[in-house]
Amino acid sequence: MRNFTNSKRIAVKIGTNTLSKDGVIDSLFIRSIASQIASLLKADRQVVLITSGAIGMGAGQLKIPSPVTDIKLRQACAAVGQPLLMTEYRKAFDKVGLTCAQVLLTAEVLNNRQTYLNLKNAIETLLALGVVPVLNENDCVATEEIGTAFGDNDKLSALVASKLDADVLIMLSDIDALYDKDPRKFSDAKPVKAVFEITDAIIKSAGSRGSKFATGGMKSKIEAVKIASNAGCRVVLADGRVKDVITKIIAGADIGTIFMPKRKLSNRLRWLLNSAATGTITIDDGAVEAIRKKKSLLPKGIKSVSGSFDAGVVVMLNTFAKAVTNFSSDELKKIAGKHSSEIKNILGTGKKDVVATPENIVLIDY
Ligand code: GLU
Repeated sequence: MRNFTNSKRIAVKIGTNTLSKDGVIDSLFIRSIASQIASLLKADRQVVLITSGAIGMGAGQLKIPSPVTDIKLRQACAAVGQPLLMTEYRKAFDKVGLTCAQVLLTAEVLNNRQTYLNLKNAIETLLALGVVPVLNENDCVATEEIGTAFGDNDKLSALVASKLDADVLIMLSDIDALYDKDPRKFSDAKPVKAVFEITDAIIKSAGSRGSKFATGGMKSKIEAVKIASNAGCRVVLADGRVKDVITKIIAGADIGTIFMPKRKLSNRLRWLLNSAATGTITIDDGAVEAIRKKKSLLPKGIKSVSGSFDAGVVVMLNTFAKAVTNFSSDELKKIAGKHSSEIKNILGTGKKDVVATPENIVLIDY
C-alpha cells in the first residue's frame, strides 16, 4: 500500500532522544542517518533534515542536568549545543561524501511571507547544489514568552515539509506508532498502520505531552500531521532506532504509522493557514455558507470586528477560517453590514469591493 517511488523530496525529523543515548550524542546513529540519506540522494531524491538535540548536547557539555527547564539556561545550552550537534552531522556527512548546511529558524521567519520566501529560495538552492540542509529552531533567540518559538521541532518539521512541498515527512522519535488506544493505559493497545482522517477519537487516544511514550508527545505529532496533510504531504511516524529505518520506509516497508493527506492547498493558502491571526471578523451564517462554497467575503456579512489591524494582514473569520483582509479594522467597522456598492461612498474611491477573495481565505475545519 505504501509507495514512495515518486516521492522526490523527503523531510526527516529526528528527536533528541533518538539521536542521543543517556544525554550523549550517538555518533554511530548519526552516521547511519547520513549514509541512508546519501543513498536517497544517489537515487535522485532530495532530503531536508530537521534535527533536535542542541539543548540536550549543550546541557551535556555544560554538565547541567536534563531536562533543562529554565528558559535562559535552555537558550545558553542551545547556543553551546548547536555547533556540537552540527559538528557531528558534518563529520557524518563528510564520511559519505556529502556537504550539509545549518539553517536555524524561528516561528517569526516562517510567519512572515518575505522571510519565508527568502528561506525557501535558500533551501531550494542548497538542494539544487546537492547539499543536505540541517534545520533546527534558533532556540537561543526564540522563546515561548515572546511568541517566536515553535515549542517543539514536530511543528517546525511539519511547517518546513509543508512549505517546501515535501512529498513525505518521516518523524523519527521514540514514539514508534499511533495506537488505537492510549498505550499507557491499555496493554492491548495496537499500533495503527495507516490513518486516512484525524478524527476526534484519534486525538483523544493520542496521549499527552510528557507521557512515557513522548518526547514532543503524540499530541504534538498529531498537530504536525495536520499541518503536513494540508500540504498534501504524507507523514510516517516511526521508531528512529529501527535499523536503516529511512531506507526501509522509503522502500515501502510497513513501519510505524502512515498518515495520508486529505487536501492539498496552494502555497499561498498553506502560508495563510499557518500564519498567526491579528484580529477576528465575526460574520453571519449567510457569509459562512458563501465562504464554504468558495465565494468572497462581502461587507454585508460582517457582524463585528475585534482587534486593531491594517489591511493585508491575516485575520480569523469566526473560528472556522483565516483570511487576508483587504481592509483595516477601522474601515471594516465602517462598512460592516453594508452593501459592496456603498464602500466607495463610505471609504472613498480606490478601495476593493470585497473584504477577502477566495484565494485569500482558507478553512481551518474542513
Ligand atoms: N530545538 C530543540 C533542540 O535542538 C528541540 C526541540 C524539541 O524538539 O523538543 O534541542
